[in-house]
Amino acid sequence: LLAQACHVLYHQGHEHFFLGHVSARAPTAGQVWVKPTGFGLEEVGPEHMLLADLDGNKLEGEWNLHTEMPIHTAIYKARPDVNAVVHTHAFHAAGLSASRASFQMVSQDSILVGEVPCYPSAELVESAALGAALASALGDSRAILMKNHGLTAVGSSIEQAVVRAVSLERSCRTQLAAAQLGGVVPIAPEELGRMSARLGANQAREQAIWRYLVRACGRG
Ligand SMILES: [Zn+2]
Repeated sequence: LLAQACHVLYHQGHEHFFLGHVSARAPTAGQVWVKPTGFGLEEVGPEHMLLADLDGNKLEGEWNLHTEMPIHTAIYKARPDVNAVVHTHAFHAAGLSASRASFQMVSQDSILVGEVPCYPSAELVESAALGAALASALGDSRAILMKNHGLTAVGSSIEQAVVRAVSLERSCRTQLAAAQLGGVVPIAPEELGRMSARLGANQAREQAIWRYLVRACGRG
C-alpha cells in the first residue's frame, strides 16, 4: 500500500527527482514503515520500504532513510489520530508556498483538505526541533504548505493522506490559475459550509477517490 501510494503520487505530478516520501505507522507501536531516499516515487516497491522508530533510527531494510524523517516522527508523536504522512515537493504547492498568497478555498479539492496553514521556513526539516515546529504549525489540520518547499499531508490511513496530498496540489494549481486570470474569488462562505459538510472528511468519498487514483495510475 505504501509503494502504491508513492506510485499514485508520482502519477499525480508530485515527482521531484528521488525526493518526496510517504510513511505509515507499523503494527508495532512506535514504529513506522517509510520510503527510502535515492529512489523516485515511481521506482519503489514493497521490497524497498524501511522500518524505523520514532527517533528516526532505521530498524530494518537495505536502503537509507530520508534526512527529513523528523517530518514523520514529530507528527506521529504529536498526532495520535495520524497513521500516515505524505511529504512531497509538488510543483503547484511549492509555487503557492513561494508566493505572498495563502491557501484559499477555490474548488472541491480545497474542501477535502480544509484550512491549510503554512510552515514559514524553507530549511530542510532534519532535526527533532524543526520537526516539532512543523507539527506545531500543522496543529489539527489535515495538511500544511511548507514555504519555498512543498507540502505535508496526514491521514488516519495511507489512502486518506494521499487523497489529501493530491487534493491540496490540485487546489493550489487551481488557485494559481485563478490568480493569473486577475484575482482569486474563493467559494462563498455560505456555500462553503454546506459543501464542507458533504465533501470534507468523508471517508467513503476519500476511499472512492483513492480507488480511482490507483486505477488511473495503472492505465499509465
Ligand atoms: Zn522536502
